[in-house]
Amino acid sequence: MLLTLTTTHQPATDLGYLLHKNPARLQSVEITGGQAHVFYPEATAERCTAALLLDLDPIGLVRGRGGAPGEGFALEQYVNDRPYVASSFLSVALSKAFGTAMNGTCKDRPALPAEALPLAVTVAVVSAPGPDWPRRLFEPLGYEVETTAYPLDPTQPAWGDSPYYTLHLRHDGLRLRDVLTHLYVLLPVLDNDKHYYVDQNEAEKLLHRGGDWLPRHPERGFITRRYLRYRALYVNPALARLLETDELPDDTSPPGPLSKKEGEPNASSMTGAPSFLERGSGGEVPLGGEVPTEGDQRLSLHDQRLQQVAHEIYQLAPKRVLDLGCGEGKLLRLLLRQPKIEYILGMDVSHQALARAAQRLHLAEMPPRQRARLDLIQGSLLYKDDRLAGFDAAALVEVIEHLDPSRLAALEAVVFGHARPAHVFVTTPNADYNQLYESLSAGTFRHADHRFEWSRAEFAAWATAVAARYGYQVRLVGLGEEVEGVGAPSQLAVFGLS
Ligand code: SAH
Repeated sequence: MLLTLTTTHQPATDLGYLLHKNPARLQSVEITGGQAHVFYPEATAERCTAALLLDLDPIGLVRGRGGAPGEGFALEQYVNDRPYVASSFLSVALSKAFGTAMNGTCKDRPALPAEALPLAVTVAVVSAPGPDWPRRLFEPLGYEVETTAYPLDPTQPAWGDSPYYTLHLRHDGLRLRDVLTHLYVLLPVLDNDKHYYVDQNEAEKLLHRGGDWLPRHPERGFITRRYLRYRALYVNPALARLLETDELPDDTSPPGPLSKKEGEPNASSMTGAPSFLERGSGGEVPLGGEVPTEGDQRLSLHDQRLQQVAHEIYQLAPKRVLDLGCGEGKLLRLLLRQPKIEYILGMDVSHQALARAAQRLHLAEMPPRQRARLDLIQGSLLYKDDRLAGFDAAALVEVIEHLDPSRLAALEAVVFGHARPAHVFVTTPNADYNQLYESLSAGTFRHADHRFEWSRAEFAAWATAVAARYGYQVRLVGLGEEVEGVGAPSQLAVFGLS
């Protein structure tokens, strides 16, 4: 991946002083997984361009993970987009190569870092969750933003564009340190596939690098959440400190002993804050699990997955939402907390699951206005059902793997062909990740009722084919903490009518 920084500030070669890198020499720094090279394709008094070329070694990346690649997954570990997409690796390279500049220090020209310069930045390539995201992230900071998209497959124009773009940013006058800081924080936010675990340090880094500008950024919630990888625990206090406003739900204290009964309304449901600001599932005790104790800061994988899905749904501002295969209603509970969703329909084939959902959501005791927002119906996803028509979004969370593969075509026809919601959110376990479960022997599934578990490649192939067949576009998202080489524990496909 290649990042260039160009200025026409006079004399333009001041860029060399600011970056602490001599324009006459090629300089290289080592980072985990590869090398970053800094050089200047042009360096005249009128115009100077510094380039940072990040050369990641896919084999080094796998080795850096420690341990030999698991059999059967070896190729995917080596063949992925990590070597060419701007990601957290580029942030690490930026801070390593240009750390002094990022801190605003310039020994030879102490006044220079405070000067606003005309700057142009090109990054090839970035991946983004949608074509409008580069603009939404960089325009509020005063950049002119352009992106060049690439087709998914040049021989298949109907497939549309890939999630990869060359990013062009321009600013009339900004301090170099600000540009570097914006890139440092926002490139991994666009990419959303951080290569290291998030811990309290990451929250601190974000506060340090984003402290000046992030609190005023209209997408600060999205940025903080993606930067911190959906770890609600860190997001809440980090956001609270960044914003220092009363916009946050009351429920931002660190996890402590359970104070609410299951089903009791959550304070945050009144604020309209998205679900990622919420901790756990409103203090609910996982079925068959332990009661979280004080200091127990983990969210179960399923809770994390549900919160991420709820957040993805919320971002599309749907009014009518379907939860297909709603089970005991954990997602329904999160959706109910989002006041902008006017109506939610939960469907399941299992009467028992629906009865449990009604009980857990305290349906019988709900105030009439809340009660009118939710219905539970029994039905099968294998049969066309007119009750499912006219919705803005449908979720199928960990449902498809419960069906025999030969039945999937029927489900596709029911959901994508007949019900045709504007958006469909499908999650399923990522089989690539199973090798990390020590108790799971090769070839077995995570749950006795699973009929299959798909690798990321298999899920992507299915999702792309379904989208093409039914006129949807699709994007794939990892759910849960990413691990190099194997991805996140679960995977989400977000379909949108094209
Ligand atoms: N979405 C829930 C439950 C997942 S378990 C959650 O994330 O917590 C899978 C659910 O799919 C079960 O509740 C099961 O009853 C339901 N299911 C399985 N086959 C179905 C079908 N053909 N039609 C509708 N629901 C189905």
